[in-house]
Amino acid sequence: MNDQEVLIIGCGVSGLSCGIRLLQRGLRVRIVARELPPQTTSDVAAAIWYPYRAYPEERVLAWSAASFQEFLRLTAVPAAGISLTTLMEPYQWPVADPWWHTAVHHFRRAAAAELPPGYVDGYVAEVPLIETPLYMNYLMTWCQALGGLIEQQEVADLTAVAGQYPVIINCAGLGARELLGDATLYPIRGQIMRVTAVPGLHAWIDEHSDRGLTYIIPRRDGVILGGTVQVGDWHMAVDRETAVTIRQNCLQLEPRLGDATILEHCVGLRPGRPAVRLEAQPLSPACTVIHNYGHGGAGFTLSWGCADEVMVLVEAVSGKR
Ligand SMILES: Cc1cc2nc3c(=O)[nH]c(=O)nc-3n(C[C@H](O)[C@H](O)[C@H](O)COP(=O)(O)OP(=O)(O)OC[C@H]3O[C@@H](n4cnc5c(N)ncnc54)[C@H](O)[C@@H]3O)c2cc1C
Repeated sequence: MNDQEVLIIGCGVSGLSCGIRLLQRGLRVRIVARELPPQTTSDVAAAIWYPYRAYPEERVLAWSAASFQEFLRLTAVPAAGISLTTLMEPYQWPVADPWWHTAVHHFRRAAAAELPPGYVDGYVAEVPLIETPLYMNYLMTWCQALGGLIEQQEVADLTAVAGQYPVIINCAGLGARELLGDATLYPIRGQIMRVTAVPGLHAWIDEHSDRGLTYIIPRRDGVILGGTVQVGDWHMAVDRETAVTIRQNCLQLEPRLGDATILEHCVGLRPGRPAVRLEAQPLSPACTVIHNYGHGGAGFTLSWGCADEVMVLVEAVSGKR
């Protein structure tokens, strides 16, 4: 099937990572998407490697571990915008090691002196920081350099394109809800802000305290402060009161942010689903669709592991023909 084109729907991190893997195997790839970077949900993400709100844990751990290794390789490519950062996760009560700790480097328990006031336990790990403005641009350039075609075009009906392609990869993110009528897919609204850089910060995530999800991610272009996890909320406008709360919560963890100036606010809708959908579905005798969507708050964290599995499914499908 090397001379036949594979269609990928979606040009977020999932679609681009799959496109690159297929192109590396010598397949021809066309990506079509309603929104292209920098207009996708992927462009809004902070982002760090962290398997957040994606299920089931067993598959997520394998995909996350595979992505971790690919991100490590990409730290050697300056244009990719990948580096390793120290992530601290503090808790207000004693906790066991997290289920994902085997996938990361230099995992350790936090020392009491490192914890903010009111916290008694926590852990520290070295994880990939993915600077999305650089990384999404890098993925687009990489994909096109390998010969991938990228076009802005909405797909309203899968069956209408099925006749032209033996394999379609569905990486439509939250868009798969309408495209397939998948009512199990739901938005998890995330609001963040970017503030001016503060030297010497590391990344923080505090998911479990009573103030709600709070995270701090220092990047080259400032510091990302988050966040919200509003299940079922489709509201894309920035909520000013929420922004005040986010800033206050982040200051509790890192008082040095007090002097930082707000540069911008952003909102994105994470594609939540009870389980990531990564499977092949025959659409007609001549066309199979491989679904790869519903990555919740972990689309970057899962991206390469999922792309590798998509490639295995593509090979299995083409082997049968
Ligand atoms: C505030 C925030 C912070 C986050 N932080 C992190 C983080 O730190 N780490 C992490 O791993 N993840 C993070 N995430 C989650 C991550 O952003 C998502 O899981 C990821 O972007 C999903 O990628 P995707 O490519 O599957 O979907 P998307 O990026 O949404 O891309 C979907 C693509 O499909 C296209 N499309 C949809 N419907 C159609 C259609 N009918 N026809 C044609 N094209 C269509 C869209 O236009 C788009 O191009 C965060 C998300 C948010 C909102």
